[in-house]
Parts: sequence; structure tokens; C-alpha cells
Amino acid sequence: MNSPRLPLLESVFCAVNLGAIVLDHERRIVLWNSWISKHSGLEHEQVLGRDFFAVFPGLRGGRVDTAIQHALYNNFASLLSQTLNKAPFALHASRAAAARDERIQQAVEVTPIAVDGAPRHCLIQVSDVSIAVTREKLLREQTMVLRSQTFSDGLTGIANRRHFDVAMEKEHRRAKRGATPLSLLMIDIDHFKAYNDHYGHQKGDQCLIQVAAALADMLKRPCDLMARYGGEEFAMILPETDVEQAMLMAETIRARAQELAIPHERTTDAAQLVTVSIGIATQLPDLPVEIEALIGAADRALYQAKRNGRNRVSALLTH
Ligand code: GH3
Ligand code: MG
Ligand code: MG
Repeated sequence: MNSPRLPLLESVFCAVNLGAIVLDHERRIVLWNSWISKHSGLEHEQVLGRDFFAVFPGLRGGRVDTAIQHALYNNFASLLSQTLNKAPFALHASRAAAARDERIQQAVEVTPIAVDGAPRHCLIQVSDVSIAVTREKLLREQTMVLRSQTFSDGLTGIANRRHFDVAMEKEHRRAKRGATPLSLLMIDIDHFKAYNDHYGHQKGDQCLIQVAAALADMLKRPCDLMARYGGEEFAMILPETDVEQAMLMAETIRARAQELAIPHERTTDAAQLVTVSIGIATQLPDLPVEIEALIGAADRALYQAKRNGRNRVSALLTH
């Protein structure tokens, strides 16, 4: 300590708001700042001159070890990626956190230090990135929520029109590539305007929620999708489903809607229950058509089902 600046440098080294450890060429601890004492619970006197891996045995053979070797013997610096190595050092924000072994989230940087007339040393810097990590986690969670809201219908909670469009593009491409049939069902509640007029809009909403939940519940395969296409109209994408299988599915759906036994005094159905009409369009494996054509065909089939008396299923092949 022959230079007057040295005590100042030592004070600065201790005062910085991150952990700093300096190792000599033999990986013995030669400097240890206050931040690292505070968060490790180990004072200078307990560690100075000791082998680094005697103090942190858990780090031997790991990525910090490799980084130290690179710095001391190959003269290059390493920044340990946070995603792979969240908290290598047993450092804690408080005694309570230590008791729970809740470690500070760390970013670790190991840098070679040239020393006049002595073999190379290295500096290990440990910074607390807990706040950034927590913020990042929160942002990720918020993104997930927003994404799910973007793709689900606010009233019924099932997939919305945007979700339908994305899924349709994907399944249409898959069906063409794999030469598999693709069926689309358009499901529309019968005389729903009259239902609203008679029971009120709120009851109408409840009816939509109930029908949507029951029909969405009928899908068994993860690739099937039921979406709210608009107002009281739902669309179901059934990949790898030919027209006979789609007819069976549609008939089951039609019957299920009726089974809900939602009273509807202003319908043409003799049982005076809420019913649905279903239009089916199936794209044949060897005859792919545009998505618009498939939707158009399902719409025409639905119109046919309505015209033929409602509470029924009608199918069209695209060609
Ligand atoms: P059809 O048997 O031919 O399908 O007759 P419909 O009365 O069901 O068909 P129309 O298209 O004439 O009426 C659809 C009604 O659906 C009109 C609209 O007020 C109602 N509707 C659309 N979206 C909602 C909604 O979110 N909540 C409620 N309560 N009603 C809705
Ligand atoms: Mg309708
Ligand atoms: Mg409609």
C-alpha cells in the first residue's frame, strides 16, 4: 500500500453494489468485497487466502470453474448466461431467505486481470438480477394472458374468429401437404333472434355460453377446434375427417344441443327447445380447394339445413 490511491481503491472495491472476488493464479481468494460478505455470510477473514473451491465446493467442475480456468489460463473473459445458470453462488438477500435457500438471481462475469510481475489473476463479478428476472417473469406471464385473450372469445371463452382463421390456415396447409380430408362444420342456433326478443339479451348470452361450452366439450382430439365464428354461429375444424365421419360428428352435436333442453317458446321446433342447424363442407384429399371455397360450401350447406326445416345437418363436398 505504498500509493495513497490504494486505500481509496480498496474502499471503492468494497462499496460497489455487486459481489467482487479476486483469485490469484492458484485460485486462492485474495480480495473479497463487502457485498459478497453480506450475502454469503462469510467475512473476509474467513476466506482470504483460501482455495476458492474449498469455500464454494458446489462450484467445482461447473460452469464457474470453466470460466475461471479460461480467465486464468487462456486469458479470456466469460459471461455466464442467466438462463442456464440462475444462481450458482449460495448468496441470499437476507437471513430469512437463506433459511429458505432462496438464492439471489445472479449474473456472473469472470475476467482475467493482468498483474505486474506476477501470474495472471481473475476477477469474479456477481450481480443481483432478481428484480430484472422477476420483471421478466411478470412480463412473460402478462404476454401469455394477453395472447390467450387475443385468441379467445370474451363471452363464451372458446376460441374466437382470429383463432379460427389461424387454425384454419394451419390445418388447410397440413391437409394439402398430407393429402388428408378436412371437414368444416358451421353450427348456427335456430331462431335466436326470436329467443333474444322473447327472453332478453342477457338470457341470450347465457344460452350462447351454455351451448358453446357443451359443444366445445365434445371435441376429443387436440387438433379439433371449435370457435365462435360470429354472433350465434360456431365453426368446427375437423382435420383428417371425411364426410361420413363429419356427418356422424355433426349429428351428435345437433342431438347434444337439443339435449341441453333449453326452453325456446318462439321456435318452430315442436319440442320448443333451443336447437342448432349444421352445415358441413369436406375437402377431399385429392381435391384441395381454397379456404374461402371451403367456408363458402359450409355456409351453403348450413343455408340448406335451415331451408329444409332447421334442427338438422346438411353436407356438401367441395370439388
Ligand atoms: P336462423 O334460425 O335462421 O338462424 O334465425 P336467427 O334468428 O337465429 O338468425 P338471425 O341471424 O336473424 O339472428 C341472429 C341473432 O343473434 C341476432 C342477434 O341479436 C343475436 N346475437 C348475435 N350475437 C349475440 C350475442 O352475443 N348475444 C346475444 N344475446 N345475442 C346475439
Ligand atoms: Mg341463427
Ligand atoms: Mg346466424
